Amino acid sequence: MNIHEYQAKELLEKYGVAVPKGIAAMSVDEAVKAAEELQAGGTSLFVVKAQIHAGGRGAGHFKGAADDKGGVRLCKSIDDVRAAAEAMMGNILVTKQTGPEGKEVQRLYVTDGVDISKEYYCSLLLDRATAKVTFMVSTEGGMDIEEVAETHPEKIVKVAIDPVGGITKADAEKLADALKLTGAAKQSAIPFFENLYKCYMELDASIVEINPMILAGDEVMALDAKFNFDDNALFRHPDIVALRDESEEDENEKIAADNELSYVRLDGNIGCMVNGAGLAMATMDIIKLYGGEPANFLDVGGGATAERVTVAFKIILSDPNVKGILVNIFGGIMKCDVIAEGVIAAAKEVNLSVPLVVRLEGTNVDKGKALMASSGLPIIPADNLDDAAKKVVEATKRAQAAA
Ligand code: GDP
Ligand code: MG
Repeated sequence: MNIHEYQAKELLEKYGVAVPKGIAAMSVDEAVKAAEELQAGGTSLFVVKAQIHAGGRGAGHFKGAADDKGGVRLCKSIDDVRAAAEAMMGNILVTKQTGPEGKEVQRLYVTDGVDISKEYYCSLLLDRATAKVTFMVSTEGGMDIEEVAETHPEKIVKVAIDPVGGITKADAEKLADALKLTGAAKQSAIPFFENLYKCYMELDASIVEINPMILAGDEVMALDAKFNFDDNALFRHPDIVALRDESEEDENEKIAADNELSYVRLDGNIGCMVNGAGLAMATMDIIKLYGGEPANFLDVGGGATAERVTVAFKIILSDPNVKGILVNIFGGIMKCDVIAEGVIAAAKEVNLSVPLVVRLEGTNVDKGKALMASSGLPIIPADNLDDAAKKVVEATKRAQAAA
């Protein structure tokens, strides 16, 4: 689960991680009021920031708008704040991370404009290779970290934290040294890293990204903040769940979650329905091997029922890019004939309009195949995964060409 920048900064502040002063606003008037409140506290430079669940806002643009000043704007007066808020609120912000469809801005964050001496990159994540929570820092802040990783990998320094002992002063010093911070700036960075780690661990985050982390005078601060939380731990954080902004979430991903399906939408045109995450990954790999592109990752789980298979079908078909479907089910706990019944019922109910390739294997496979063959539906049976992938890539290509 993701949250907005202003929510992330409230959490950071609670843990003693320094952030610039800021006030969230749900309308243009509220943004102006927020700026006035900051002004009363001594602020003379403001930043108006569009709140969407995507980065790259500063370099983004508003769809259909002549103005190309992006979703992060420095403002010198209250009038400027009003103009910036008007340009953003209710409009579609397109950034490198939103995709071409962009995201509608419904919330703003007005902050104190900070005089930045230097920008850095800092993130915390679980490194699965070492099984340790790991800091990643770089002197190349404010920019695309993927690009830094590609062009200057030596400029990214990783420090893995001992899972039992937690962060030590030596770890924090190592991070500060990697960023060439000295003197008072280093003394400010040490509690910054320590508190950030505490925040990450206690809130069961899976990623915290501070880009940029900045130096303002001698003080280290988080100028931007992105959190991702481990969904499996949300049950013990009702206060975090309360921060959820459903308007930011993909409709189908929500329906999938409600039905205990794991669904992630992708860019291709072959819809996949598979039981088991490992098999789903393998299915996507083999589709790619034969020159196709999966439209989604979808794991219907071990105990898929006819109802869940129907929901899964509906989700796949609601994506207009889907021009072919591959069902790849291994009937272990589930019996193949039960799965076949579910697939047939679902295909009839949703009025299937694209080619459907089905590969079944496991318990009662012959019964399952017989049911499909006599269903009257144009199901293309496949004997194994290889055969299935070839068939669905071909059938989808033909359907795409005909469309
Ligand atoms: P992003 O574009 O979505 O990553 O949004 P950020 O919050 O990272 O802001 C983008 C950039 O705007 C930062 O890297 C800064 O260069 C600039 N910026 C944001 N806030 C301030 C501020 O308070 N003062 C100054 N001088 N620049 C800022
Ligand atoms: Mg940023």
